[in-house]
Amino acid sequence: MSSPLVNIYSRLPVSFTHGQGVWLFDAQGRKYLDGLAGIGVSCLGHGHPRLVAAIAEQAARVIHTSNIYEIPQQAALAQRLAELSGMEEVAFANSGSEANEAAIKLARYYGHQRGNDLPHIISMDSSWHGRTLGTLAATGSEKARKGFEPLPAGFIQVPYNSLDAVRRAGDDEPRTVAVLLEVLQGEGGIRPSDLEYVRGLRELCDARGWLLMIDEVQSGIGRTGKWFAHQWAGIRPDVMTLAKGLAGGVPIGAMVAAGPAAGVLTPGSHGTTFGGSPLACAAGLAVIDALEHEGLLDNAAEVGAYLHDALSQALSGVPGVTEVRGRGLMLGIEVDRPCGILATRAMHAGLLINVTRERVVRLLPPLILSRAEADEIVRLLVPLITQFLADQA
Ligand SMILES: *Cc1c(COP(=O)(O)O)cnc(C)c1O
Repeated sequence: MSSPLVNIYSRLPVSFTHGQGVWLFDAQGRKYLDGLAGIGVSCLGHGHPRLVAAIAEQAARVIHTSNIYEIPQQAALAQRLAELSGMEEVAFANSGSEANEAAIKLARYYGHQRGNDLPHIISMDSSWHGRTLGTLAATGSEKARKGFEPLPAGFIQVPYNSLDAVRRAGDDEPRTVAVLLEVLQGEGGIRPSDLEYVRGLRELCDARGWLLMIDEVQSGIGRTGKWFAHQWAGIRPDVMTLAKGLAGGVPIGAMVAAGPAAGVLTPGSHGTTFGGSPLACAAGLAVIDALEHEGLLDNAAEVGAYLHDALSQALSGVPGVTEVRGRGLMLGIEVDRPCGILATRAMHAGLLINVTRERVVRLLPPLILSRAEADEIVRLLVPLITQFLADQA
């Protein structure tokens, strides 16, 4: 009998019964070093005592009430996010897509409030903002969009990392209200932007009255060694979105607003049934506490740089390896040919990774990764890559 699951995933033939730290275990007792953290979600690894206790305690008290009522855990998490980002307001959601939908809606509302009835948003080639219709329209992946037209109008895509392209798009479309980007593209192949470009976008948005909206769904919450990846450029966006790592595995999303974006959304203009539940927000607070008290941002920066160096050295001069890149514990190894099979081979070798944009091996390990565990990633991964490239040569 065929499976009653909708056939939308090509899954690796493994499932996990439990996890501890950076390790996951299957029913046969085999262990796997989790180099992907469920695509950047399990930032504290598995079974982290602080997170487990916070979830258990909150679940025993109350899991869900409703946004009809006050939710102290939500207010507290919003407060923490505002402090860490220097931003002003937070609206919660349940996923990255939903957080970005809120950002898109905010930008449109902002336009309408200024008499612009057809507000446009500029986004980037090879970007990833989610799979809802609105976020697909913003996403720069033909493959993800194809077959779902008509997509919502009002989006313009330009080449990534080109300030001129954004400037020209804005000249061509005077109804532009916002620029949306990942400062370090994730699904797009771990592609960093230049810090000068990010600063240039900040100035351009200020000059033109556009909102600068940064999607930190993958790069945020310590992943790159700062709370938010845009902080490397020393700027503050008007809107920032978060999700993946924010509650360490409990579904959550957040849209954070500041400056001209604060106060735009008004009562009744947006909302959610589940978003910002006591459970999700208690988990989010525990994640932020753990990251802070255990020095995990510094750990992500240090062990990330160490892993980056070790991979660069081990793969230097290997024909077919194009580049090792990224920041903190958000790393990519690009090769010169499609290499999706490496995810399967790594799994058989006891290492979990994935491949994005067909040619980029992606590492997003838990932020608790130690140097010894980083060494283990190198030990398992490098021979697989060199062997793969040698076989195909
Ligand atoms: C994963 C991701 C999303 C989508 O998040 P979902 O929770 O899958 O909806 C959006 N933006 C970026 C940058 C992402 O990495």
